[in-house]
Amino acid sequence: MHPDLKSVIELQHLDLRIAELATQIEALPGQIRTLQAQLDDFIHAHEERKKRLAANQKERKDLEAEIKIIQEKISKHKDQLYQVKTNEQYRAMLKEIEGEEANIRKIEDQVLEKMIEAEEIQKLIGEAAARLDGEKARVAGEIKHLETEQQDDVRERDGLQARRNEIAGALGESVRSLYERIRGARGGQAVAEVREGLCTACNVLLRPQVYNEVRTNEAVQTCENCGRIMYYVVPVVAATGEPGDQGTQAAV
Ligand SMILES: [Zn+2]
Repeated sequence: MHPDLKSVIELQHLDLRIAELATQIEALPGQIRTLQAQLDDFIHAHEERKKRLAANQKERKDLEAEIKIIQEKISKHKDQLYQVKTNEQYRAMLKEIEGEEANIRKIEDQVLEKMIEAEEIQKLIGEAAARLDGEKARVAGEIKHLETEQQDDVRERDGLQARRNEIAGALGESVRSLYERIRGARGGQAVAEVREGLCTACNVLLRPQVYNEVRTNEAVQTCENCGRIMYYVVPVVAATGEPGDQGTQAAV
């Protein structure tokens, strides 16, 4: 195989892997923010429930204070029952007391509702409190895992990048710029395998003469359709029972 062809094939492998690693490395801050946001949401919901419980208790106290005030009014009005002069006044006073007692029952229902609500909130607070440490540990663990992965990715990328620079540096200027130009124009893929007379990148049939040249792997040839640098891999024929038997393949 032509050394330049060998180099661009390796460059292509390296560049694809470097691009993959770069994507992973760039994705990390977002992944960490997502995890952090999950924990923040959990803690925020927990704090909100605590606030709701405190508000509930305050509302219940206010209602109970209201009941007390009405009860005082009732006992005052009951005392006054004995002081009224006319039946009419007596009936009016009784009616007032009845109204006040009905009011108390209404408020007592509200107190009961508050108590039921408080129980539900208490239960949720208890559950969240039991899970909180676990959630913190989970998020911290996942972030740590991501960061370790990140370090591995950076290390791998740096190694590949160094190897890439070495190969690109050793490559002749014309082939290197050809490779870079196609890579830029073709979404990162500058090299294509040829199989059964087709460029596998664009699926266009090669002219027989071009195909024959490509099969030698002895020149840097580009696809007339997509412009990618082409190379040929001798196919493995399973029928011979000797995969990779190039002697047999050469005759095909
Ligand atoms: Zn092509």
